Amino acid sequence: MSDLFDLTGRRAFVTGANTGIGQAIAVSLGQAGAQVICAGRSSMAETLAKLKEAGATGFECLADFADKDGAVQAFDGAAEAHGAIDILVNNAGIIRRADAVDFTEADWDEVMDVNLKSVFFLCQAFARGLLSRKAEGTVINIASMLSFQGGIRVASYTASKSGVAGLTKLLACEWAGKGINVNAIAPGYIATNNTEALRADRQRNDDILKRIPAGRWGEASDIGGAAVFLASKAARYIHGAVIPVDGGWLAR
Ligand code: NDP
Repeated sequence: MSDLFDLTGRRAFVTGANTGIGQAIAVSLGQAGAQVICAGRSSMAETLAKLKEAGATGFECLADFADKDGAVQAFDGAAEAHGAIDILVNNAGIIRRADAVDFTEADWDEVMDVNLKSVFFLCQAFARGLLSRKAEGTVINIASMLSFQGGIRVASYTASKSGVAGLTKLLACEWAGKGINVNAIAPGYIATNNTEALRADRQRNDDILKRIPAGRWGEASDIGGAAVFLASKAARYIHGAVIPVDGGWLAR
């Protein structure tokens, strides 16, 4: 039981690890013993400092995940530089807002490229590496409540996150028999930069809080805890799950 959640000796690649949910996941995995490669387009200095504080090892990998070839090159380069990767966390994500009738192709493509296309090709690169060395591994994709629900003015985001949920299930079916766990976390309303404007709008904030059974916004560390669970031996028979971590929002 004591080592059920111990990730010592495992190496994780976390996208969008400089801030918000990605940073919390990186730090949580590090606290559980994993080495963490913090990947994204901005400096990882803050996350690396937090990892160091936690006594964990971290590395920076700079890449723009809007370009799937650049994403895969960064992933392969990180594995070459730091050693084989056992845990892939696809967290980097963006949102663009407009009415569906006004939605532009540029906003559609940008969101799809970051939230779905790079996610698939990173999963592919990860699985190819695992299969070539006959190793086991874990993919954790970050989905959303909008993987299950409609929403308004976020057409490409909703489509991309529904796609992430579907892709998670498909890859789980293809790879479960090969020792690769593929699962997703669907965060509810989590207090990060991404949701700052919502929280600043008093009326919206009150409306949201009234509908969350837990009665509070989620913290990024709530998602970090779920990621440690999914990366651990405790989750070894979980394949293709899209787990809401939302204070009960979807249960309502
Ligand atoms: P943030 O906006 O705080 O973080 C998003 C992360 O993605 C940042 O690290 C950002 O880097 C990175 N990123 C965006 N575009 C790119 C790119 N082209 N290349 C590399 N990195 C990129 O948001 P959250 O932490 O809130 O969100 C993290 C994930 O959780 C996202 O997938 C989001 O959709 C999902 N989510 C969040 C919810 C919430 O309530 N917060 C709810 C449901 C899902 P940079 O800082 O450089 O822009």
